[in-house]
Amino acid sequence: MGATMIICDAGCQNKFVVDRFMSARIGGGVEKVYIVCPHCHREYVASYTDPEIRDLQIRIRRVQKRFANPRADRVKAAQREAEIQTQIKEKMEALRARIEGTHDDGE
Ligand SMILES: [Zn+2]
Repeated sequence: MGATMIICDAGCQNKFVVDRFMSARIGGGVEKVYIVCPHCHREYVASYTDPEIRDLQIRIRRVQKRFANPRADRVKAAQREAEIQTQIKEKMEALRARIEGTHDDGE
């Protein structure tokens, strides 16, 4: 995985390389995965996860391991992977909306 260069578009407008994600617990079993601009310390949230989403992430990794097994049913595994991916995406969006929608102190 290569490093990604992003522009601090909500902050100082400088470019920086994303080399690691930080994570913080914000209560209620929710974890925030984020990056911080090294220039102005502006925070960018990549995703929020709750125990249910983290469980799905574990499950999807288990399904992905099946691709390495030549005897596994790859079509089925691919279907299952797509299903879980959709669930994760929907749950993450709902969680983000819930957290950011009720969080009004900006800083
Ligand atoms: Zn910045």
